[in-house]
Amino acid sequence: MNLYELTMQQAHRLLSEKEVSSQELTAAVIDRIKTVDEKTNAYITVAEKTAMEEARLADKIISEGNTLPLTGIPIAIKDLICTEGIRTTCASKILENFIPPYDAAVIKKLKNEGAVIVGKVNMDEFAMGSSTEHSSMKLTHNPWDLERIPGGSSGGAAVAVAADMCLGSLGSDTGGSIRQPASHCGVVGMKPTYGRVSRFGLVAFASSLDQIGPLTKNVRDCAMLMKVISGYDPSDSTSVPKDVPDYTLLFQDGLKGITVGIPKEYQSTKGLNPEVSAAIKSAVRTIEAIGADCIEVSLPHVEYAVAAYYVIASSEASSNLARYDGVKYGFRDKGNGNLLGMYRSTRSKGFGTEVQRRIIIGTYCLSAGYYDAYYKKASQVRTLIMEDFSRAFKTCHVILSPVAPTPAFKIGEKYDDPLTMYLSDIFTLSANLAGIPGMSIPCGFSSEGLPIGLQIMGNHFNEEVMFKVAHNFEKATDFHIQKPVL
Ligand code: GLN
Repeated sequence: MNLYELTMQQAHRLLSEKEVSSQELTAAVIDRIKTVDEKTNAYITVAEKTAMEEARLADKIISEGNTLPLTGIPIAIKDLICTEGIRTTCASKILENFIPPYDAAVIKKLKNEGAVIVGKVNMDEFAMGSSTEHSSMKLTHNPWDLERIPGGSSGGAAVAVAADMCLGSLGSDTGGSIRQPASHCGVVGMKPTYGRVSRFGLVAFASSLDQIGPLTKNVRDCAMLMKVISGYDPSDSTSVPKDVPDYTLLFQDGLKGITVGIPKEYQSTKGLNPEVSAAIKSAVRTIEAIGADCIEVSLPHVEYAVAAYYVIASSEASSNLARYDGVKYGFRDKGNGNLLGMYRSTRSKGFGTEVQRRIIIGTYCLSAGYYDAYYKKASQVRTLIMEDFSRAFKTCHVILSPVAPTPAFKIGEKYDDPLTMYLSDIFTLSANLAGIPGMSIPCGFSSEGLPIGLQIMGNHFNEEVMFKVAHNFEKATDFHIQKPVL
């Protein structure tokens, strides 16, 4: 087995037993990037020099017998999480040369464990998109079929894991951006409960929805990363002071006593691909066979999730992105020489079309006279969706659904049709609106050999039970060990 193929857990064992050094492991991963990433384009920045230094430091920690679970493990970071001294572009021209003077809270946590930051990975510009095609940096390809999108917006983070160009990665999820690319690339991805993981140092898209979370090769690795990045942080006012369980210790076998809910509304969703539907049904049967009880639940308002999400997310984006005015950060275009002209020209040239579209929609929704009709209305719908989930979780522990309505689509297929692109998030947006955790785990393949993901959603701060279901499903199946050939 090649070193880059290791899971985080396997690498941790080999590192602590000193069978392998972090320098060897990191060099193998960087070598792998050099060999295959010209086909996939996952990385925007490979931080080879600092990564090798961090690996040396990790080896020292290990030799002193102070190995922690992530010590020496190479991790990739979505390019909207601030890394001190390493360019953080948000895949946008406007931040093309932005080098943050500080680390995000999650990066500090990784570094405190002695993890190795391999580099920064591609995404849709400012995380707006479902295919990574809206990056202003490069086009990322799905390793299972290079003519297809990897999903988005954390497309690079999913590809880097799927193609063994890191052992795990961090992405962000505002409406599905961890779960949908995880599903399209056949890896595990989790969006934690809103408030579980600090967003200090995450470049904001829609602040009432954004969460950082892990993408990994299997469920246990996901739990390992979650344990490290979770927890209260006074620098993020939405972070919740709640103890973090050791998720990895909670991996009991069997699902006796667990009730899974299947939303009836999702079964007749228009545009749901029959192969995806069949894979989900078969996954549910497997979960029942391991001992869980299955019931039907109802989420009557999720049909309005896409509409509510795109009003709320765009409104918050228009407000958050107001700071990029050519004065404080990054790119500036002089324009016609006066201040307004400079603003206009900087923002027109610095932002791509999708980001501009969101800013225009959002500014309209928030404008005087329209606020009540759009933002306020969408917020009321959001409350109804939240109540749907609270009601459902009175009768079940987790809710199962597809992650995406279809397997990965072809590059270019939905690019010119924003509405169709927005519909790829139909199953994931509700969890962000409700603030609940959601994860994607591999549960099958299409007839064309493309991965399909199962979504597991849990109640607020109940990631444990999701891990339990995911772990048992993974033990009973082998979808997570299949690899794309590059
Ligand atoms: N695809 C959704 C959007 O474009 C979600 C993006 C995300 O989760 N960052 O807004």
